[in-house]
Amino acid sequence: MKQKQPSFLLFKKARWRLASWYGAVISIVLGILGIGVYEAIIHAHQITVEKELKTVAGTLHDSLETILNTPGKLEDKIMQFLPNLCPVNTTCLSQNNIYNYRLGAIEKGQYYLYIFDLSGNLIALSKQNIKGLDIKKHQKQQEILKDTQGIRYLQISYMLHNKKGENWGYIQVIRSLEDFDNYLNSVALILLLGLPLAVILIGLSAWILTGLAIKPVYQSYCQIQQFTADAAHELRTPLAAILATIESTLMLSTWTEEDAKETLQSLKRQTERLSALVADLLMLSRLDWQLTSNAVSTIKYEKICLNYLINDVIEELAFLAISLQIFLQSEIRVNHRIEILGDPEKIYRLLFNLVVNAIQYTPPKGEVKIILEEKNKLAIIKVKDTGIGINSPESKHIFERFYRIDKGRSRKDGGSGLGLSIAQAIAQAHHGTIEVKSEVEKGSLFIVQLPINF
Ligand code: ADP
Repeated sequence: MKQKQPSFLLFKKARWRLASWYGAVISIVLGILGIGVYEAIIHAHQITVEKELKTVAGTLHDSLETILNTPGKLEDKIMQFLPNLCPVNTTCLSQNNIYNYRLGAIEKGQYYLYIFDLSGNLIALSKQNIKGLDIKKHQKQQEILKDTQGIRYLQISYMLHNKKGENWGYIQVIRSLEDFDNYLNSVALILLLGLPLAVILIGLSAWILTGLAIKPVYQSYCQIQQFTADAAHELRTPLAAILATIESTLMLSTWTEEDAKETLQSLKRQTERLSALVADLLMLSRLDWQLTSNAVSTIKYEKICLNYLINDVIEELAFLAISLQIFLQSEIRVNHRIEILGDPEKIYRLLFNLVVNAIQYTPPKGEVKIILEEKNKLAIIKVKDTGIGINSPESKHIFERFYRIDKGRSRKDGGSGLGLSIAQAIAQAHHGTIEVKSEVEKGSLFIVQLPINF
């Protein structure tokens, strides 16, 4: 069975933890928000119901006061004004159902009307009556009541005065809160059922989002791990060679001056290779640091004339080109100097790496050309060769660290597989780009674009 890498499990654990925290926090926020919304609905409904009942009770109270005479006496005028009112201890005629707009709502069973005398005795009530509620004169002007079935009611009482301004009795209007409570119960049910569903959806999206967020971190973690392993491997090779040279020399019983010279020469070569590799790694890590952080730039910005720089590279590599029978030349396609701002040593290194590769990967009698152009405020340097070329699946990887197509060949030529990654890091540090177009057996074209003013 394939074992999972510890780093993979570590990232999976971190993803779980992040997703759980994220899901929990959002769920709590949503829960609090849901409770808030529920409370706001209750409050808004309560105010509306209270206002409504006060308006009904107030209108009845104001209208009655204009026709009241003897305190506590239900006169004909009152009965005419409220035809659906039943005096207590009388047979209330249900056929006497004359429609009256003031009692429209009462008729529908939404409101219940009770009239009390000054001693608090009930003297009349609306035909619609509440079953299971103790009917009495309530002391408070407004209060919530509950019947035996648990249905809630809101009551409002007002004192009634006759035309002379004397106290007459009390009017008490009650409204059932059943419809209001039913509505609130369904809102609560929707919220309660919706919350677990929302939590599941949040959890799912948290898992997906944390996965997306962690993916680049995981990838760069893997790259660093791979890079460390590759670097250790590359450093081990010259170190092993140095150790072998020393050990074999120590085994010699006698030493001639020539042996010593040969051993030292060999050690020198290995050490030079080692220090070149360490220098390359150091440069890459510095360029990386600069690209990925806001650290102070390690690049010194100076004016660089690319026309001269190309000549310098050609001059330095002319001997290598001749020794490998390569025709090395430049083609400056502008008739003025192209200057960029940058680090001359690094730009030189970029070009040097490209041209060395072009020479090394081109068979004898081939051609390597460095072309300089200018387009849209960009200096364009092309390194073109008629060499072995690179097939397209490989060309996607050649800028990766320690990547070599033909490992045996490039090691033999001293290549560490860092040349192109260094070139790319330098181009990026100068706000430029580098790309390759290549065809197997026909040759390669490396194109570097560097901004002239940035
Ligand atoms: P190396 O030190 O091996 O040359 P580089 O990073 O410079 O490492 O190049 C990576 C790989 O890209 C090389 O191993 C080689 O296979 C391929 N390569 C680079 N330049 C050329 C070129 N001009 N023609 C063909 N292959 C090339």
